[in-house]
Amino acid sequence: MLDRISQKFSDLFRSVSGNNRITEQNVRDVVQEIKVALLEADVNVRVVRRFVNRTLEDATGDAVLRSVSPGQMFTKIVHDRLVEFLGDERQDLQLKGPDTVSPILLLGLQGSGKTTTAAKLAARLSREGRKVLLVAADLVRPAAVDQLQVLGERIGVAVHVVDGARDPVAVAKAGLKRAKKELYDTVIVDTSGRMQVDAALMKELQAVKKVVQPVESVLVADSMTGQSAVDIAKEFNEQIGLSGIILSKFDSDARGGAALSLKTITGTPIKFIGVGEKTEDLEPFYPDRIAGRILGMGDVVSLVEKAQETIDEQEALELQQKMAKANFSLADYLDQIQRVKKMGSMESLLGMIPGMQGRVSEEDLNTDELKYEEAILQSMTRVELENYRIIGINRRKRIARGSGTTVYQVNRMLKKFDKMRTMMKKVTKNKKYQAQLMQQL
Ligand code: GDP
Repeated sequence: MLDRISQKFSDLFRSVSGNNRITEQNVRDVVQEIKVALLEADVNVRVVRRFVNRTLEDATGDAVLRSVSPGQMFTKIVHDRLVEFLGDERQDLQLKGPDTVSPILLLGLQGSGKTTTAAKLAARLSREGRKVLLVAADLVRPAAVDQLQVLGERIGVAVHVVDGARDPVAVAKAGLKRAKKELYDTVIVDTSGRMQVDAALMKELQAVKKVVQPVESVLVADSMTGQSAVDIAKEFNEQIGLSGIILSKFDSDARGGAALSLKTITGTPIKFIGVGEKTEDLEPFYPDRIAGRILGMGDVVSLVEKAQETIDEQEALELQQKMAKANFSLADYLDQIQRVKKMGSMESLLGMIPGMQGRVSEEDLNTDELKYEEAILQSMTRVELENYRIIGINRRKRIARGSGTTVYQVNRMLKKFDKMRTMMKKVTKNKKYQAQLMQQL
C-alpha cells in the first residue's frame, strides 16, 4: 500500500527533517522534488500545482526558516497539506436512525470492485448493529447477482433478488418495499456498471436513483487506475451526484494518485478504502493517517506539536548560550529532565520519530535512570544545583538519603553530568553538534 510514493517521500524528508538550518533555496529544491514525486504518483496536474504553490507559500515564511527545527516544521507543513488534499477530516456515511430506511446507492464501472464492496459495506454496517438488506440490481454483468447472493450468505446478510429481472428500477423499487415491510434500516443497492462511462448507463442510474432516493450515493473507484478513476468520479458526480467515494484495491496501489486528487477535483470525500478481497477488508479513510503513511513517518505532526508546546524558542536559545559559555548547571539539567517527562514517555515520543518505531524500548532508554536522577536533583539545595563542584561526600550522603538512592548512584549521576559538560565545552564551537546535543537533551 502506497509503497512507491512513501519510499520517495521518506528519502526526501530524511534529508531535511534533521536540519537545523534551511534556506529558502533548500525549501524550493525540496518542493521541486515533491512536485516530481507527486507527478510520478499520478496525482492530477492541477492538484500538484496547487499543492506546490501553497507549500511554498507556507514554508518560505520566516516562522519556518527561523524556527528551532525548521526541517521538522517543513515536514509538518507538507504533512498538513497532504491531509488537506486527502480531504481533511474523516467523513463517515450519513445514515438515518433505525426507525426509517437509509438507502445507499453503490455505483461504479465494471471491475471496480462494486459488488465485493457492497458485501464489505453490508458486513461492516451489520457488525455495527444495523439491519441490512442487499439489493442485486446489477443486471448487466452476468455473474453479479449470483456473486452477491454467495457473498450475502457468507456474511449473513439478506440479498433481495428478482429472478429473471431485466429492469433495475423495478428491482430497486421492490427491494425498498421489502425493506420497509420487513423493517430493515439499511438498504444497499448494487447497481449496474459498464466497461466505461456511457450515456445509457447514466440514464439507467439516474432512473434508479430517482426511485431509491438514497441518503448516500457512493462511487466505488478502483484506486489502481489513478487519474482515470478521478475522471470517472468527476463524470459520475456531474451526472448522478455523489456523496462519497470508496477507493477499492487500495492495498495494491503503490502510488496514491487517485487518493490525493479525488477530493480536490470532485469535491467528494473518500469515506472508505478497500484493502483486500475478503469481506472484512474495508477500512474507514483517515486523511491524516494516510498522509503519515505517504511521508513514511510516524506521527511527526503530534511530535512537532508537542515539542512546540514544551520548548520555547527563546528558552532553547538561552540554553544554547549557556552551553556555549559552559555554565550549564545541574538546575538546567533538572529542567531538561522535567521537560522530557512533560512530553510523555520517552518510548511514545521516540515512536513518533521517523524510522524509530519499535526500535527503541523504554528499557534501552533507561527512563528509570532519568527518574532517579530527577529524585537526586530534587534533593539538592539551590546552591548545589548551581554549583555541583561543592558537592562533597557528606552532601552526597545526605542527597542519597533524601532521594531514596545510594551514594553510588549520586556519584554516577554527577560523573555523567561532569562528562556531559566537558563534552558540551568541546562541541559548542561546532554549530552542527550543538543542535544534535540539544535534541539529545
Ligand atoms: P464489480 O464488477 O465492480 O462488481 O467488481 P467485483 O466486485 O467483482 O470486483 C472485481 C475484482 O476486484 C474481484 O476480483 C475482487 O476480488 C477484486 N477486489 C475488489 N475490491 C478489492 C480490494 O479492495 N482489494 C483487492 N486486492 N481486490 C479487490
